[in-house]
Amino acid sequence: MSDDAADAFTYNGGRVDPGETANIRYGISETYLGDPVRIPVTIINGEQAGPTVFLSAAAHGDELNGIEVVREVAHEWDLADLRGTLVCMPVLNVPGFLAQQRYLPIYDRDLNRSFPGHEDSTSAKRMAHRIFTNFVEPCDLGIDLHTSTRGRTNMLHVRADMADDEVSRLANAFSSNVIISSDGPSGTLRREASDAGVPTITIEMGEAHRFQRRLIDRALDGVRSVLAEYGLLAQEAVSWPGWRTVVEDNDEKTWLRADAGGMVDMHFECGSLVHEGDRICTITSPFKEDNTAVEAPFTGVLVGILENPVVYPGNPLCHLVELDEPTRRALERDQTPTAVDAPANA
Ligand SMILES: [Zn+2]
Repeated sequence: MSDDAADAFTYNGGRVDPGETANIRYGISETYLGDPVRIPVTIINGEQAGPTVFLSAAAHGDELNGIEVVREVAHEWDLADLRGTLVCMPVLNVPGFLAQQRYLPIYDRDLNRSFPGHEDSTSAKRMAHRIFTNFVEPCDLGIDLHTSTRGRTNMLHVRADMADDEVSRLANAFSSNVIISSDGPSGTLRREASDAGVPTITIEMGEAHRFQRRLIDRALDGVRSVLAEYGLLAQEAVSWPGWRTVVEDNDEKTWLRADAGGMVDMHFECGSLVHEGDRICTITSPFKEDNTAVEAPFTGVLVGILENPVVYPGNPLCHLVELDEPTRRALERDQTPTAVDAPANA
Protein backbone atom coordinates (compact mmCIF):
# COMPACT_ATOMS: atom_id res chain seq x y z
CA MET A 1 0.00 0.00 0.00
CA SER A 2 1.11 3.56 -0.48
CA ASP A 3 2.91 5.42 2.26
CA ASP A 4 4.47 8.86 2.23
CA ALA A 5 7.83 7.52 1.09
CA ALA A 6 7.94 5.09 -1.84
CA ASP A 7 8.67 1.48 -0.85
CA ALA A 8 10.69 -1.20 -2.59
CA PHE A 9 8.70 -3.85 -4.45
CA THR A 10 9.82 -7.24 -3.18
CA TYR A 11 9.16 -10.74 -4.48
CA ASN A 12 10.69 -14.10 -3.68
CA GLY A 13 14.22 -13.68 -4.93
CA GLY A 14 14.48 -9.96 -5.48
CA ARG A 15 13.52 -6.37 -4.90
CA VAL A 16 12.99 -3.32 -7.06
CA ASP A 17 13.69 -0.02 -5.34
CA PRO A 18 11.92 3.30 -5.97
CA GLY A 19 13.13 4.84 -9.21
CA GLU A 20 14.19 1.44 -10.62
CA THR A 21 12.87 -0.70 -13.45
CA ALA A 22 13.61 -4.43 -13.61
CA ASN A 23 13.06 -6.89 -16.45
CA ILE A 24 12.79 -10.31 -14.85
CA ARG A 25 12.36 -13.82 -16.18
CA TYR A 26 10.71 -15.54 -13.24
CA GLY A 27 10.65 -19.32 -12.95
CA ILE A 28 7.16 -20.77 -12.33
CA SER A 29 7.74 -24.41 -13.35
CA GLU A 30 10.09 -26.79 -15.20
CA THR A 31 9.76 -28.61 -18.52
CA TYR A 32 10.13 -32.36 -19.15
CA LEU A 33 13.80 -31.63 -19.82
CA GLY A 34 14.21 -29.92 -16.51
CA ASP A 35 14.56 -26.49 -18.07
CA PRO A 36 12.92 -23.59 -16.28
CA VAL A 37 9.52 -22.30 -17.45
CA ARG A 38 9.89 -18.58 -16.89
CA ILE A 39 7.42 -15.73 -17.33
CA PRO A 40 8.58 -12.26 -18.38
CA VAL A 41 7.84 -9.61 -15.75
CA THR A 42 8.70 -5.93 -15.88
CA ILE A 43 8.47 -4.02 -12.60
CA ILE A 44 8.56 -0.24 -12.76
CA ASN A 45 8.80 1.33 -9.32
CA GLY A 46 8.19 5.08 -9.48
CA GLU A 47 10.26 7.48 -7.43
CA GLN A 48 7.11 8.73 -5.74
CA ALA A 49 4.79 6.68 -3.55
CA GLY A 50 1.47 5.43 -4.92
CA PRO A 51 -0.57 2.29 -5.55
CA THR A 52 0.87 -0.93 -6.98
CA VAL A 53 -0.98 -2.10 -10.11
CA PHE A 54 -0.56 -5.33 -12.06
CA LEU A 55 -1.24 -5.64 -15.78
CA SER A 56 -1.41 -9.19 -17.13
CA ALA A 57 -2.15 -10.88 -20.46
CA ALA A 58 -2.17 -14.25 -22.19
CA ALA A 59 -3.47 -16.27 -19.25
CA HIS A 60 -4.96 -17.99 -22.28
CA GLY A 61 -1.93 -18.62 -24.45
CA ASP A 62 -3.41 -17.65 -27.82
CA GLU A 63 -4.99 -14.36 -26.71
CA LEU A 64 -2.43 -11.90 -27.96
CA ASN A 65 -3.88 -8.37 -28.06
CA GLY A 66 -3.23 -7.80 -24.36
CA ILE A 67 0.43 -8.75 -24.72
CA GLU A 68 1.02 -5.69 -26.86
CA VAL A 69 -0.94 -3.48 -24.43
CA VAL A 70 1.21 -4.59 -21.49
CA ARG A 71 4.47 -4.29 -23.43
CA GLU A 72 3.70 -0.78 -24.66
CA VAL A 73 2.85 0.45 -21.17
CA ALA A 74 6.04 -1.09 -19.77
CA HIS A 75 8.47 -0.20 -22.53
CA GLU A 76 7.10 2.68 -24.62
CA TRP A 77 5.33 4.95 -22.16
CA ASP A 78 7.19 7.78 -20.44
CA LEU A 79 6.85 6.74 -16.79
CA ALA A 80 9.43 9.15 -15.35
CA ASP A 81 6.75 10.77 -13.15
CA LEU A 82 5.03 7.53 -12.13
CA ARG A 83 3.57 7.66 -8.61
CA GLY A 84 3.45 4.03 -7.54
CA THR A 85 4.50 0.74 -9.06
CA LEU A 86 3.50 -1.20 -12.19
CA VAL A 87 3.89 -4.98 -12.33
CA CYS A 88 3.67 -5.88 -16.03
CA MET A 89 3.21 -9.54 -17.02
CA PRO A 90 2.65 -9.75 -20.80
CA VAL A 91 2.57 -13.57 -21.00
CA LEU A 92 1.23 -15.49 -17.99
CA ASN A 93 0.66 -18.83 -19.74
CA VAL A 94 4.09 -19.36 -21.30
CA PRO A 95 3.57 -23.06 -22.27
CA GLY A 96 0.23 -22.20 -23.92
CA PHE A 97 1.77 -19.20 -25.65
CA LEU A 98 4.62 -21.30 -27.07
CA ALA A 99 2.07 -23.80 -28.41
CA GLN A 100 -0.26 -20.96 -29.52
CA GLN A 101 -3.18 -22.52 -27.71
CA ARG A 102 -5.61 -21.44 -25.03
CA TYR A 103 -4.86 -23.97 -22.32
CA LEU A 104 -1.69 -25.21 -20.70
CA PRO A 105 -0.53 -28.09 -22.94
CA ILE A 106 -0.15 -30.22 -19.82
CA TYR A 107 -3.50 -32.11 -19.68
CA ASP A 108 -5.16 -29.07 -21.25
CA ARG A 109 -5.58 -27.33 -17.94
CA ASP A 110 -6.97 -23.80 -17.83
CA LEU A 111 -4.50 -21.53 -16.04
CA ASN A 112 -7.35 -19.05 -15.64
CA ARG A 113 -9.29 -21.53 -13.49
CA SER A 114 -6.25 -22.40 -11.37
CA PHE A 115 -5.83 -19.26 -9.26
CA PRO A 116 -4.93 -18.57 -6.51
CA GLY A 117 -3.06 -21.83 -6.97
CA HIS A 118 -1.37 -24.13 -4.50
CA GLU A 119 2.28 -25.00 -3.93
CA ASP A 120 1.64 -28.76 -3.50
CA SER A 121 -1.04 -29.36 -6.12
CA THR A 122 -1.19 -29.83 -9.92
CA SER A 123 1.34 -28.28 -12.27
CA ALA A 124 -1.20 -25.60 -13.23
CA LYS A 125 -1.94 -24.69 -9.63
CA ARG A 126 1.76 -24.56 -8.78
CA MET A 127 2.35 -22.13 -11.64
CA ALA A 128 -0.68 -20.07 -10.60
CA HIS A 129 0.57 -20.03 -7.00
CA ARG A 130 3.98 -18.65 -7.94
CA ILE A 131 2.41 -15.93 -10.07
CA PHE A 132 -0.23 -15.09 -7.49
CA THR A 133 1.92 -14.89 -4.36
CA ASN A 134 4.81 -13.00 -5.93
CA PHE A 135 3.17 -10.60 -8.35
CA VAL A 136 -0.59 -10.36 -7.67
CA GLU A 137 -1.07 -10.37 -3.90
CA PRO A 138 1.41 -7.50 -3.32
CA CYS A 139 -0.70 -5.26 -5.60
CA ASP A 140 -3.53 -2.85 -4.83
CA LEU A 141 -5.45 -3.48 -8.04
CA GLY A 142 -5.12 -5.30 -11.35
CA ILE A 143 -6.18 -5.51 -14.99
CA ASP A 144 -6.15 -8.90 -16.76
CA LEU A 145 -6.39 -8.74 -20.56
CA HIS A 146 -8.13 -11.35 -22.71
CA THR A 147 -9.67 -11.79 -26.16
CA SER A 148 -12.59 -13.82 -27.40
CA THR A 149 -12.16 -17.56 -27.82
CA ARG A 150 -10.65 -18.69 -31.13
CA GLY A 151 -13.18 -18.44 -33.98
CA ARG A 152 -15.07 -15.52 -32.45
CA THR A 153 -14.44 -11.86 -31.81
CA ASN A 154 -15.79 -9.35 -29.33
CA MET A 155 -15.85 -5.59 -28.96
CA LEU A 156 -13.67 -4.19 -26.21
CA HIS A 157 -15.55 -4.54 -22.93
CA VAL A 158 -14.90 -4.89 -19.22
CA ARG A 159 -15.96 -7.83 -17.07
CA ALA A 160 -16.17 -6.92 -13.41
CA ASP A 161 -18.13 -7.55 -10.23
CA MET A 162 -20.01 -4.25 -10.10
CA ALA A 163 -21.54 -5.22 -6.73
CA ASP A 164 -18.07 -4.65 -5.23
CA ASP A 165 -17.47 -0.91 -4.79
CA GLU A 166 -13.71 -1.08 -5.29
CA VAL A 167 -13.99 -3.27 -8.39
CA SER A 168 -16.76 -1.00 -9.71
CA ARG A 169 -14.53 2.07 -9.33
CA LEU A 170 -11.81 0.32 -11.31
CA ALA A 171 -14.22 -0.88 -14.01
CA ASN A 172 -15.70 2.58 -14.48
CA ALA A 173 -12.23 4.13 -14.67
CA PHE A 174 -11.28 1.89 -17.60
CA SER A 175 -13.76 3.84 -19.72
CA SER A 176 -15.31 1.15 -21.91
CA ASN A 177 -18.75 1.39 -23.50
CA VAL A 178 -19.89 -1.97 -22.18
CA ILE A 179 -19.37 -3.49 -18.74
CA ILE A 180 -20.65 -7.00 -18.06
CA SER A 181 -21.11 -7.51 -14.35
CA SER A 182 -20.55 -10.82 -12.63
CA ASP A 183 -18.29 -12.05 -9.86
CA GLY A 184 -16.65 -14.42 -12.36
CA PRO A 185 -16.01 -18.17 -12.19
CA SER A 186 -13.90 -19.36 -9.26
CA GLY A 187 -10.27 -19.89 -10.21
CA THR A 188 -10.15 -16.90 -12.56
CA LEU A 189 -7.48 -14.34 -11.85
CA ARG A 190 -9.99 -11.50 -11.51
CA ARG A 191 -12.27 -13.37 -9.11
CA GLU A 192 -9.51 -14.75 -6.90
CA ALA A 193 -7.47 -11.55 -6.85
CA SER A 194 -10.58 -9.52 -6.00
CA ASP A 195 -11.47 -11.98 -3.23
CA ALA A 196 -7.92 -11.64 -1.90
CA GLY A 197 -8.35 -7.86 -1.60
CA VAL A 198 -6.81 -6.88 -4.95
CA PRO A 199 -9.71 -5.42 -6.99
CA THR A 200 -9.25 -6.77 -10.51
CA ILE A 201 -11.11 -6.50 -13.81
CA THR A 202 -10.93 -8.49 -17.03
CA ILE A 203 -10.71 -6.76 -20.41
CA GLU A 204 -12.10 -8.66 -23.39
CA MET A 205 -10.91 -7.38 -26.77
CA GLY A 206 -11.10 -8.80 -30.27
CA GLU A 207 -9.85 -12.10 -31.60
CA ALA A 208 -7.26 -14.66 -30.56
CA HIS A 209 -4.06 -14.93 -32.66
CA ARG A 210 -4.03 -11.25 -33.65
CA PHE A 211 -2.54 -7.88 -32.83
CA GLN A 212 -5.49 -5.57 -33.58
CA ARG A 213 -4.17 -2.03 -33.52
CA ARG A 214 -7.45 -0.14 -32.96
CA LEU A 215 -8.38 -2.32 -30.02
CA ILE A 216 -4.88 -2.12 -28.56
CA ASP A 217 -5.04 1.67 -28.72
CA ARG A 218 -8.46 1.70 -27.04
CA ALA A 219 -7.17 -0.54 -24.26
CA LEU A 220 -4.11 1.67 -23.79
CA ASP A 221 -6.49 4.62 -23.35
CA GLY A 222 -8.34 2.56 -20.74
CA VAL A 223 -5.15 1.75 -18.83
CA ARG A 224 -4.13 5.43 -18.94
CA SER A 225 -7.53 6.41 -17.56
CA VAL A 226 -7.24 3.87 -14.71
CA LEU A 227 -3.74 5.08 -13.80
CA ALA A 228 -5.13 8.64 -13.77
CA GLU A 229 -8.06 7.63 -11.51
CA TYR A 230 -5.70 6.15 -8.92
CA GLY A 231 -3.12 8.94 -9.10
CA LEU A 232 -0.26 7.00 -10.70
CA LEU A 233 -0.19 9.36 -13.67
CA ALA A 234 -1.07 12.72 -12.15
CA GLN A 235 -0.90 14.60 -15.45
CA GLU A 236 -3.46 12.36 -17.19
CA ALA A 237 -7.25 12.66 -16.99
CA VAL A 238 -9.90 10.02 -16.37
CA SER A 239 -11.85 9.60 -19.60
CA TRP A 240 -15.54 8.98 -20.36
CA PRO A 241 -16.41 6.70 -23.28
CA GLY A 242 -19.38 8.75 -24.58
CA TRP A 243 -21.97 6.10 -23.77
CA ARG A 244 -22.05 3.15 -21.44
CA THR A 245 -24.22 0.22 -20.57
CA VAL A 246 -23.67 -1.99 -17.53
CA VAL A 247 -25.14 -5.42 -18.12
CA GLU A 248 -26.05 -7.28 -14.96
CA ASP A 249 -25.75 -11.03 -14.98
CA ASN A 250 -29.52 -11.47 -14.96
CA ASP A 251 -30.24 -8.73 -17.50
CA GLU A 252 -31.14 -9.31 -21.11
CA LYS A 253 -27.90 -10.51 -22.64
CA THR A 254 -28.05 -13.30 -25.09
CA TRP A 255 -25.79 -15.47 -27.11
CA LEU A 256 -28.06 -16.15 -30.07
CA ARG A 257 -27.56 -19.74 -31.15
CA ALA A 258 -27.95 -21.37 -34.54
CA ASP A 259 -31.07 -23.50 -35.07
CA ALA A 260 -29.67 -24.90 -38.31
CA GLY A 261 -26.30 -26.15 -39.44
CA GLY A 262 -24.59 -24.30 -42.27
CA MET A 263 -22.39 -21.47 -43.38
CA VAL A 264 -23.04 -18.08 -41.82
CA ASP A 265 -23.36 -14.86 -43.75
CA MET A 266 -22.97 -12.15 -41.07
CA HIS A 267 -24.60 -8.82 -41.95
CA PHE A 268 -23.19 -6.65 -39.14
CA GLU A 269 -19.80 -5.96 -37.68
CA CYS A 270 -18.92 -6.50 -34.07
CA GLY A 271 -19.92 -3.41 -32.05
CA SER A 272 -22.84 -2.52 -34.33
CA LEU A 273 -26.22 -1.35 -33.12
CA VAL A 274 -28.99 -3.64 -34.34
CA HIS A 275 -32.70 -2.95 -34.05
CA GLU A 276 -35.39 -5.43 -33.09
CA GLY A 277 -36.29 -7.43 -36.21
CA ASP A 278 -33.07 -6.65 -38.09
CA ARG A 279 -31.62 -9.65 -39.86
CA ILE A 280 -28.28 -10.16 -38.07
CA CYS A 281 -27.09 -13.07 -40.18
CA THR A 282 -28.23 -15.79 -42.56
CA ILE A 283 -27.37 -19.47 -42.20
CA THR A 284 -26.95 -20.87 -45.72
CA SER A 285 -26.77 -24.36 -47.18
CA PRO A 286 -24.23 -25.60 -49.77
CA PHE A 287 -26.89 -24.88 -52.46
CA LYS A 288 -27.73 -21.41 -51.10
CA GLU A 289 -31.34 -22.49 -50.60
CA ASP A 290 -33.49 -23.14 -47.55
CA ASN A 291 -31.60 -20.33 -45.89
CA THR A 292 -32.33 -19.51 -42.25
CA ALA A 293 -32.63 -15.84 -41.27
CA VAL A 294 -31.57 -14.90 -37.75
CA GLU A 295 -33.31 -11.75 -36.52
CA ALA A 296 -32.59 -9.56 -33.52
CA PRO A 297 -35.14 -10.35 -30.78
CA PHE A 298 -34.58 -6.88 -29.28
CA THR A 299 -32.60 -3.71 -29.95
CA GLY A 300 -29.04 -3.88 -28.73
CA VAL A 301 -25.33 -3.86 -29.46
CA LEU A 302 -23.44 -6.82 -30.90
CA VAL A 303 -20.78 -7.37 -28.25
CA GLY A 304 -19.49 -10.58 -29.81
CA ILE A 305 -19.86 -12.41 -33.14
CA LEU A 306 -18.45 -15.56 -34.67
CA GLU A 307 -15.55 -15.18 -37.09
CA ASN A 308 -15.25 -18.76 -38.29
CA PRO A 309 -18.45 -18.83 -40.36
CA VAL A 310 -19.60 -22.42 -39.86
CA VAL A 311 -22.12 -23.72 -37.31
CA TYR A 312 -23.85 -26.80 -36.04
CA PRO A 313 -27.28 -26.28 -34.53
CA GLY A 314 -26.68 -24.96 -31.04
CA ASN A 315 -23.43 -23.16 -31.82
CA PRO A 316 -23.26 -19.49 -30.77
CA LEU A 317 -23.73 -16.88 -33.52
CA CYS A 318 -23.49 -13.59 -31.69
CA HIS A 319 -23.70 -12.00 -28.26
CA LEU A 320 -26.39 -9.31 -28.26
CA VAL A 321 -26.71 -6.93 -25.31
CA GLU A 322 -29.95 -4.98 -24.89
CA LEU A 323 -29.72 -1.19 -24.68
CA ASP A 324 -32.15 1.19 -23.04
CA GLU A 325 -33.44 4.11 -25.08
CA PRO A 326 -31.04 6.86 -23.83
CA THR A 327 -28.02 4.57 -24.29
CA ARG A 328 -29.18 3.62 -27.78
CA ARG A 329 -29.47 7.29 -28.75
CA ALA A 330 -26.03 8.03 -27.32
CA LEU A 331 -24.56 5.13 -29.30
CA GLU A 332 -26.25 6.36 -32.50
CA ARG A 333 -24.67 9.79 -31.99
CA ASP A 334 -21.34 8.17 -31.27
CA GLN A 335 -21.28 5.52 -33.96
CA THR A 336 -19.01 6.21 -36.89
CA PRO A 337 -19.65 4.72 -40.35
CA THR A 338 -17.29 1.86 -39.52
CA ALA A 339 -18.94 0.47 -36.41
CA VAL A 340 -17.26 1.15 -33.07
CA ASP A 341 -14.60 -1.32 -32.07
CA ALA A 342 -14.84 -3.20 -35.34
CA PRO A 343 -11.61 -5.15 -35.65
CA ALA A 344 -9.29 -3.20 -37.92
CA ASN A 345 -8.43 -6.24 -39.97
CA ALA A 346 -11.90 -7.81 -40.06
ZN1 LIG B 1 -9.15 -15.52 -22.16
